[in-house]
Amino acid sequence: MATLFIGRGGGTREPVEAVQRSLDSFQRMRKGRGVPTAVIDADGAALNALRAAGLRVTAPRRAVLAWLVEHPHSTVGAIGAAVRETLGTVSTQAVYDVLGVCTAAGLLRRIEPAGHPARYERRVGDNHHHVVCRSCGRTDDVDCAVGDAPCLEPADYRGFAVDEAEVVFWGLCPDCETEGRRRDDSRRLEEIRQ
Ligand SMILES: [Zn+2]
Ligand SMILES: [Zn+2]
Ligand SMILES: [Zn+2]
Repeated sequence: MATLFIGRGGGTREPVEAVQRSLDSFQRMRKGRGVPTAVIDADGAALNALRAAGLRVTAPRRAVLAWLVEHPHSTVGAIGAAVRETLGTVSTQAVYDVLGVCTAAGLLRRIEPAGHPARYERRVGDNHHHVVCRSCGRTDDVDCAVGDAPCLEPADYRGFAVDEAEVVFWGLCPDCETEGRRRDDSRRLEEIRQ
């Protein structure tokens, strides 16, 4: 079972009050004026997803799932920071626990681009791929042209019952490409001046 640490340093003093505080802040977020409808819808969807998966509904689970709707392909660090902003103190271990439980239940997909931290997304159940920036790690969805896994056919399956081909497109995102060009330009300028 996931262990949930709420409160300063994960202390166990007044845990009920801490949980209540978290719930209060969550309810405030839902009722608060100026909260975009999308946030409320994402929270409702998170609640339904947890119930449909037969998982216990907890404030951190709701917050993680709701936040990921608008912020796909987020790292544990970014997810943790967002959840803490909503709920107050939530330990990184608690965030890992939420991500582990929700991934195992099929509510989240975990992407692990080689050499980059893992990222999580709510878009599950299809065979979409990712394009990853070598420089900053930005990760975007790329629809699978074929649709069904495995979308690549090897010349020889070697007798394996293959069910997946891991396809990752690597390159530079528009920002890093622009930045790289600017650096090249200034280097050339520097050379001309010398
Ligand atoms: Zn980049
Ligand atoms: Zn994706
Ligand atoms: Zn594909």
